[in-house]
Amino acid sequence: MKCFYCLQDKPPNKYKKREHVIPQCLGRFSPDNLILYNCVCDECNQFFGDKLEIFLGRDSYESIERKKHGIEPKKPLKNKRRVKSKIIDGEWKGAIVEEAKADKPGEIGISYPIQAGFYNKFMNEYIYYEPKDIPSAEQLEKEGYDLKTAKMFADESELPQLIEILKNKGINISTKNDLIQPNPPVGSVLVESEVIIDRTIARALSKIAFNYLAYVAGSKIVLRDEFNGIRQFIRFDEGDLKKYFSVNVSPILHDNQKIQKFNTQITQGHLINVEWHKDAIVSKVSPFNSYTYAVLLCSNYNGIWYPIKSGHYFDLTTREVSKQILV
Ligand SMILES: [Zn+2]
Repeated sequence: MKCFYCLQDKPPNKYKKREHVIPQCLGRFSPDNLILYNCVCDECNQFFGDKLEIFLGRDSYESIERKKHGIEPKKPLKNKRRVKSKIIDGEWKGAIVEEAKADKPGEIGISYPIQAGFYNKFMNEYIYYEPKDIPSAEQLEKEGYDLKTAKMFADESELPQLIEILKNKGINISTKNDLIQPNPPVGSVLVESEVIIDRTIARALSKIAFNYLAYVAGSKIVLRDEFNGIRQFIRFDEGDLKKYFSVNVSPILHDNQKIQKFNTQITQGHLINVEWHKDAIVSKVSPFNSYTYAVLLCSNYNGIWYPIKSGHYFDLTTREVSKQILV
């Protein structure tokens, strides 16, 4: 029994964990999330969960989308660094926000991490910094900041710590008069997010694509040498990301008009497909039918051609999986 990620021969007792094509951080579906049996070893399965999927599920564009659908992680991730969001309008313009559980389905809640905002005379607005990003007083003054007052987001227990950090930067906010502790806005706010799709996120999404090919074509096929590039990229972080992974390609629905006609309600779910492009095999993955990512699984297949064209839709409303016939 050979694992198609690490290529090691291992005994059957090393294949006890379930390898899902769609990771459960993107929801649980009926009858299942498409399961691969006896072809991804427990060590690789564990590695993917700990090193890739945790970040796809909790520190990515998809982690914001999952909140909208009420798919809450058991624990949020500390030290998120791939999503930066801020309020872009009104009294709290510039304040840093993080996604949080929403009150209603379809909405995204927000929370306020500890931060200090200083008024910038040149820009005529407050700019906010999380403790780890606060520049020195000297730097801030050079850039036109007024350091006499600060707007803080911190609760009672966190405030002394924040004041201490500011002090270490040469910013002396000591009296209560120097602080403005804004009450967070109520109701809806307009938020702008900057999302980084790095190698970790690209590999997590590529794994969905490669797993899907294994599910559709069988695990023997994906053991072939032509797939060594994508395999090494996903499992061992090797190779050029751009060679394998593209962001924001044309949507799957655009490619496959028949799906669109077949079911006009396909908007609230994940879409995935795989097909030939001459000798290459390409899979598109579109979590939440939002961004669409393309993964080049192999560019020069040398074996005997056989049909692999396939697509699946994971409905987030009914939580059911359906296989679609593609044209
Ligand atoms: Zn393995």
